[in-house]
Amino acid sequence: MGLTIMRRIKFCAGHRLYKHGGKCEHFHGHNYVCDFFVTGDTQDAVGRVMDFSELKSRCKGWLDEHWDHSFLVSHEDDNAIEALRMVKPCRLFIMPYNPTAENMAKYLLEEVCPKILAGTGGVATRVRIWETDESFAEAAVDSKDGVYVATFEAATSGD
Ligand SMILES: [Zn+2]
Repeated sequence: MGLTIMRRIKFCAGHRLYKHGGKCEHFHGHNYVCDFFVTGDTQDAVGRVMDFSELKSRCKGWLDEHWDHSFLVSHEDDNAIEALRMVKPCRLFIMPYNPTAENMAKYLLEEVCPKILAGTGGVATRVRIWETDESFAEAAVDSKDGVYVATFEAATSGD
């Protein structure tokens, strides 16, 4: 049986969508809301999957350090990277793909959560990125024979 808890963390960040062709290819920002869903198969002596304050400090710690008040750009977006590197102090986070809400959720689920949740007994099974009050994107893994398997395609580099 899996028990799931969720912690919501808010942060602000800038981005632009490389080769979007619409208004999102201009520099702009969002007040993002990020929901981390963490599942565990066991409970501690208190009855918890993990301590909510522990989950908060790990997730918020990473976001504060890397994405909050930063600028997210695609690794292919040389023009934006060059421009942002001229700004002092520079706060920039280069993504291996376009920084859409979908890819931000995927990046957190795939790259970040396994590291920040290591040793807690909890596994991130779902990450939801709210870009506005009305819209979110979600990356999720499914439990298959008790093993959590990513449902999305792995990002391919170089295309
Ligand atoms: Zn945007």
